[in-house]
Amino acid sequence: MASDNGKRRGFSRRRFIQGAAAAAAASGSMLSSAAREQEHDEEKHGRRRRPSDDAPDTVFINGKIHTMDDENTVASAVSIRDGRFVEIGHVSRGQHGPNTKVIDLRGRTVVPGIIDNHNHIVLMGNRPGFHTPLENAYSIPDVQAIYAARAAGIPRDAWITTIGGFHSNHIYGNPNDPLSGRFPTRQELDAAVPNNPAFMMISFSGPGVTNSAGKSIFESQGITVAENGSMTANNPSRALLYLRQTLLTPESRRRAVIDAMNYAATVGVTTHLDQGAFQATNTAGDGAAHEDNFTMHIPFLEVYGQGKGIVRLRINFLHMESDQATPELVQRLKNAFQFLGNDMVKTGAIGEFIAAGTSAASPFVAAAKRVAAAGWRAEVHSLGRRNTPASNPADFELEIMGFEAANGDSPGVVRERRWVIAHVPGITQEWIDRLQKIGGNLSLTGWQYLAGNPTASTVAPYAGPPFRMIVDSSKRPDGIHAGMSSDGMQIAPMNPWLHMYYATTGLNARKVLINPGQQISREEVLSLYTRENGWFLREEDQLGTIESGKLADLVVLNSDYFAVPNEDLKKIRSVLTVVGGNVVYDGGVLDLRG
Ligand SMILES: [Zn+2]
Repeated sequence: MASDNGKRRGFSRRRFIQGAAAAAAASGSMLSSAAREQEHDEEKHGRRRRPSDDAPDTVFINGKIHTMDDENTVASAVSIRDGRFVEIGHVSRGQHGPNTKVIDLRGRTVVPGIIDNHNHIVLMGNRPGFHTPLENAYSIPDVQAIYAARAAGIPRDAWITTIGGFHSNHIYGNPNDPLSGRFPTRQELDAAVPNNPAFMMISFSGPGVTNSAGKSIFESQGITVAENGSMTANNPSRALLYLRQTLLTPESRRRAVIDAMNYAATVGVTTHLDQGAFQATNTAGDGAAHEDNFTMHIPFLEVYGQGKGIVRLRINFLHMESDQATPELVQRLKNAFQFLGNDMVKTGAIGEFIAAGTSAASPFVAAAKRVAAAGWRAEVHSLGRRNTPASNPADFELEIMGFEAANGDSPGVVRERRWVIAHVPGITQEWIDRLQKIGGNLSLTGWQYLAGNPTASTVAPYAGPPFRMIVDSSKRPDGIHAGMSSDGMQIAPMNPWLHMYYATTGLNARKVLINPGQQISREEVLSLYTRENGWFLREEDQLGTIESGKLADLVVLNSDYFAVPNEDLKKIRSVLTVVGGNVVYDGGVLDLRG
């Protein structure tokens, strides 16, 4: 199986040189000054090699390396040089140089770095306090352990926060009873973190809960907290506003960026396509998904500029105007550049909104036409389902009709620029076919995993997306492209293994089957999260598979994704994450001395 597929399917040296030239042509921008600093840093530290030195930097041997190439090749070895994969499947000892590091995988499963084609990591990197993901907590003791560990690494009295990305459905009061999901109480939080104020809230605006230290601070601000610490109505949003106004500084944001990247590395997500935020108003009307779309990337760009960016970021620009003239979008299209930057951070499209709303009264069609005329890519989202009567169109129907109108004005733009509709829980075969005709594409997510239930809608099923229908459609000749995303970090977790669990089992966080008949295979969902998402980023030549010439992003897993029982999919983590040939997370189980 290992054969020489990597070589045969690989990329010529000329192709990378062209890529490098394109990247160089992009210089002069704000983004590439970060790249230049990073290069300078590499030169200074002697990590750049002379062109004559052909030995690999690193060789991984004795693994089950799922390359996710077109033939799903599994190889036992892979070599990396200058941040890119070189040989896959047959790495001979004779090619090693004196400085080549040889890492024995001891039979472990390796997959390409996971690409999340629609999430909100930029929001996660702008959280107030020491944001602490709870998406992997399954019980009150889990929450307590995660918070206690966090407290041990931060100053006494510093706020521990968890703003979105998890749900009380996932935290079983009784570990043996998946229907017992609840928040911890004030007293349970006190037991874990007596010396730090703590606050957690789910979704966009709560509910939430705090401990005793947090309760007294919030109450001094006139924010209502129940005796057991719970916070409802607009109190979580008021608390969040207070925390933002008192805790956020440029330094705290950069630290939060690094925390977010470190978390991503532990779950193996090495590339993130960020989809923006609701524009902040700096009032209690703001929720977890609000930020300033015009400044929230700064801490990320600063972290990359300092050479500390460890995962890749692609930035979409979100526009949500209700004015038919869309003045802000018009300026963006005139004054910004798409797909500009370097391998670590670059700009993307307009999305996940191009206008406020999709109805005939909204500027959706006008905005789509403007994005098309400028030759940009549009990414929009759909949460709707078909209405009865169908004469009142659903959001995805309006969006596809809008895409058709834009494509009519600017022929071929949807296919050429790879326009996307994300989430699509309620899309039907008829509308998939219609989108396929103009070359449109779908981003899928397991976001219903946390809070979805079979009675969440008057028209069942509303627990989609219909993974099976869409993946089958993508396999037809000239089929639509489908990719996978988390839509984290508010209503959904970032952890891709939870989304893979949902896509393959149809079970929600309470282990109730809510997406029957739409399950896809583990291989299918992993290919959506890797190979197919390379295409969604327009970087299929660079990312998404372990093939010669591509950027060396890979994840060594703690268990065999293809073999573990369903429930154990949720426990999959990285034990070693590599981005561009650099180890960015080391779980300490492999011998890296080489
Ligand atoms: Zn989103």
